[in-house]
This record gives sequence, structure tokens and C-alpha cells, in this order.
Amino acid sequence: MSVPLDRSTTWPYEDGEPGEFSYARFSSPTVAEAERALGDLDGGEALLFASGAAASAAVVLALLSPGQTVALAEGAYYGTGVLLDELARWDLRHVEFDQTGTLPPDADLVWIEAPSNPFLTMPDFEAAAAHPSPVVCDSTAATPLHVKPLERGCDIVLHSATKFLAGHDDALVGAVVTRDPETAARLREFRTRTGSIVAPDVAWLLLRGLQTLEVRVARQTETARSIAEHLRTHPAAAIVRYPGFGALLSFDVADAESARRVETSTRLIANKTSLGGVTSRIEARSRWEGDRVPPGLLRLSVGLEDPEALWVDLERALAAA
Ligand code: PLP
Repeated sequence: MSVPLDRSTTWPYEDGEPGEFSYARFSSPTVAEAERALGDLDGGEALLFASGAAASAAVVLALLSPGQTVALAEGAYYGTGVLLDELARWDLRHVEFDQTGTLPPDADLVWIEAPSNPFLTMPDFEAAAAHPSPVVCDSTAATPLHVKPLERGCDIVLHSATKFLAGHDDALVGAVVTRDPETAARLREFRTRTGSIVAPDVAWLLLRGLQTLEVRVARQTETARSIAEHLRTHPAAAIVRYPGFGALLSFDVADAESARRVETSTRLIANKTSLGGVTSRIEARSRWEGDRVPPGLLRLSVGLEDPEALWVDLERALAAA
């Protein structure tokens, strides 16, 4: 089944009044179709944005006010902290906390990540759900196939749909999913006012990606699990972080120089950023995150290549560590 791609930016009024679709900054048929498909997967109402970062910005700017505080999980996606640093100029505050432990009681919004990228920790969902303030869970690395935050007591799910959901490294798109109609309406209003909706072409690519999500993620998970097991017995890999599901893992080699040698020695596994695509990639995260991560930390996103060939490639590169 292929959903038609409608690139229109405007549609005729119906009996002199705007119908379901009137102007593409509000919504459009292809975007609405992709939102229905993702909403079904996460069990809520989905809204698509121009990127994961645009979705994150919309959540904090639409739902909070100057002077309020976000409690952000330590070791969560680096860019989320950078975004909150940027918004500090508007007096939006944030504090970091250990998402496996106690939550800051006074936070106005709790932001957890399941699992965190690149440390791969899982949040304490029960503790988060017991917090009086709204809880956002970025479950980009898990996908709804492994974690459904709305069923674990969270109020909002956030995805960089650029990753596994679209799945082919050719669509930049973010998503927010919620069951609360007021939150959805507020985010929709904010998205319309700020113009941060995804383009129809990209929504169409997301829809196409969702059709194969289950088989892609199942195979990528199986391969990642086996690579994590291999790495756990490899002398060059000091710490292996893998939550037991999904296709993202990280491990540490001795230092930054070793990490550079490993990431530039793989042939099948590309040396590039991002995650969730059908092709595998590895990178030293310190190039982006500085000393927030160990200098030898390598993040690996496992694709659909032959599992044995992937391990052969990685093992050979590890010999250069
Ligand atoms: N959340 C996580 C966990 C991510 O890994 C990323 C991007 O790497 C984002 C959010 C931001 O998404 P985007 O790059 O689509 O803006």
C-alpha cells in the first residue's frame, strides 16, 4: 500500500469554511497519515516536526515558562542538553539527575531517555511516573517496538524519527506522542505558530519506513545482541553498554587515539554519525561530546548487513586499537 504524496500548501474551503486541511503549516494529508501510523504504534496522538530537535524545542517552549526547570537525565542525548543551554538565555533552567535514581522533586518537567544515547541506561519509569510534573521520554533508540513510554506512566514520548522510524538516513523528522488532548492541542498550536511542521515528502518517507520497522528492528536487534556478546569477551573492549534490546550499543577502547584507529579501520561499518539506519556506523562520541564521555567511547549503530561479516569487520578494526 502506498499513500499518495500531497505537496499542496493550500486546499479549497468547503462551503466557504476551512476543512480538515486548509494550509500546510497547520497540517496536510500526508503528514496526518504518518501521524496516524506513528500514533497507533505508541498508543497516542502523534505530531510530526521538522526534526527531533524541533520537537524537543516545541515541548519545552510550548509547555514551560521562563524561570521553570527541566530535570534532564544525565547522559541523555547530548543535543538535548545543548538545546536547554541555548534556552537558558530565556531563563529556562535545567538540572541533570541520575535517571536510575532519585528525581529532583521541584522540577517542572522531567526528561528521561529510554535507553540513553550513548550510555544506554534505562530510566526508573515508576519513579518518573510518580513525579507530579509532566514526564517526557525520548525513546528514539528503543522505538515503540521495544518501549512504549505512555504505557509506563509517561505523559509525552519524543522521537528523533530520523533514526529507526524512518530508517534509511534520508529523512530528518521528529515526533511527539501524547494521550492528553490539551497537551496535543497546545503543541499543535505552537507548531503552527512557529512553522516547525515536517514537510509532506519527509512524512511520506517516514510512512514508507514504518512499513518495514518491525522486520528491520528485529534483525538489527538480533545482530546487535550477538555483537555485544562478542565484545564482552574481547580484550580491547573495556566496558560494553547494551540494554539487552535495540540496535544501539557503545563500548570503550583504551583512549582517544585507539578509538580513532578503530573507527577509521572498519570497512563495512561506516565511520559516520547518527543511528537507526539500515547500514551500520561507528564513531567516537568525544568528537561531539568532549569530556562528557570517556575518550575511548565508540558508539555503534547496527544495520542490516550480514551479522558475521559485521563482526569480522569490527574484530579486524579492534586489532588496531
Ligand atoms: N534524541 C535522540 C536520542 C537523538 O539521538 C537525536 C539525534 O541524534 C535527537 C533526539 C535529535 O533528533 P534530530 O537529529 O532528528 O533533530
